[in-house]
Amino acid sequence: MSELSDLYQEVILDHNRRPRNFGTLTGATRVADGHNPLCGDRLRLYLKLDGDRIENISFEGSGCAISKASASLMTDAVKGRSTGEAMELFDRFHQVVTTPIDEAIDEASVGKLAVLAGVREFPARVKCASLAWHTLKAALAGAADPVKTE
Ligand code: ZN
Repeated sequence: MSELSDLYQEVILDHNRRPRNFGTLTGATRVADGHNPLCGDRLRLYLKLDGDRIENISFEGSGCAISKASASLMTDAVKGRSTGEAMELFDRFHQVVTTPIDEAIDEASVGKLAVLAGVREFPARVKCASLAWHTLKAALAGAADPVKTE
């Protein structure tokens, strides 16, 4: 089990060091800002929607390793999906990271995002891990105000 956690840790550190889909996005049709005051994580999300499909997505900002890795993993996971599929994935991800540590989780339901399942041991970190997702939700809703995890 600890070997598995080490592997997950490695993936998170890798996404933190070399975040995927990092930077601005030309032709973005939606932009949303997210802020997690508890940790100081800030990110801006850019989306290019093609009808109901997320054609392209990127983010920029600064924050802790968890928030950055989560944004990197999230953008990878939702690119090319429909907005409905992306929100379903958010629901499953949220379920995984908020399940009490002594209860079983369905890691397979969230694919690669399972590497972040360890945050459920640290409730404050759940906000870091879900910031990118809340910001995505706001971007899809077209909300103009910055998102806060509080
Ligand atoms: Zn954080």
